[in-house]
Amino acid sequence: MVAMTSTTIPAVYGPVRSWRFGQSLGIDLLGAISTCSLHCRYCQLGEIEQLTCDRAEFVPTEQVQTELQQLDTDNSAIDVVTLSGSGEPTLASNLAPVIDIARAQLQRPIVVLTNGTLLSDRAVRHDLAAADIVAVKIDAVAADQWQTINRPVAGLNLDQVLAGIMTFREQFQGQFTIQTMVMEPWRKLDIERYKAVIRALMPDEVQLNTPLRPRPLTHQLEARGNHDAPPDAQWRQPRCVSAEVLTALGDQLQADLAMPVRHRYEAASLSHH
Ligand code: SF4
Repeated sequence: MVAMTSTTIPAVYGPVRSWRFGQSLGIDLLGAISTCSLHCRYCQLGEIEQLTCDRAEFVPTEQVQTELQQLDTDNSAIDVVTLSGSGEPTLASNLAPVIDIARAQLQRPIVVLTNGTLLSDRAVRHDLAAADIVAVKIDAVAADQWQTINRPVAGLNLDQVLAGIMTFREQFQGQFTIQTMVMEPWRKLDIERYKAVIRALMPDEVQLNTPLRPRPLTHQLEARGNHDAPPDAQWRQPRCVSAEVLTALGDQLQADLAMPVRHRYEAASLSHH
């Protein structure tokens, strides 16, 4: 079944610059109504319009296929294809067929950016495993932190979510990355808890970020790509940490975890902005 959206908008957009993955062609499987299982304080989509854990086909697979066939972007200008867009991509029940179609059409690695909240569901793990690179958001490892930063839909439980991410990690053969948004300096206890979670997950890389871009107050389509709008009545700057704080945290995690930890203030990353 196709979930209703108020208007039909292009599902394929970009390419947009990503400090993590280079030039990224976006595919949005959520459509005109922002839809997610979380309601993060820093979300660039603004207020999430549809908070849910229920999967549906929000954008028809045929629409994505047609748009990819009509794409006038040269493949050489694209490093990766990324599924994120207007919400949580694993809510899209057509995630797996769209991944297959995009890979066949563009011959590029397929990245899925997910908040990981649905990974306790076997069907979701199966669909997501079709990707080449999966980046899972973990911003909080304590329930109070999770409620404050990520504001989950009622019924979600952090321990179950982390267990689902672990199960997926054990099964997934592709590149597995953890993305973490840091909005304020962490308590010592939270750093220790975070390190324990990351040690158990053994990702290929940890990517730290802080919300430098302004957040729209209402859902605006351009928020799924690059925008340089200054904070004003419609765009507000969320709390973020300084380069020094993020760098110190990244250095500490890299030393303690003995795995690659990148953050958006690194010199290599700045070339993407
Ligand atoms: S998980 Fe992503 S799309 Fe969902 S509310 Fe958080 S930042 Fe926005």
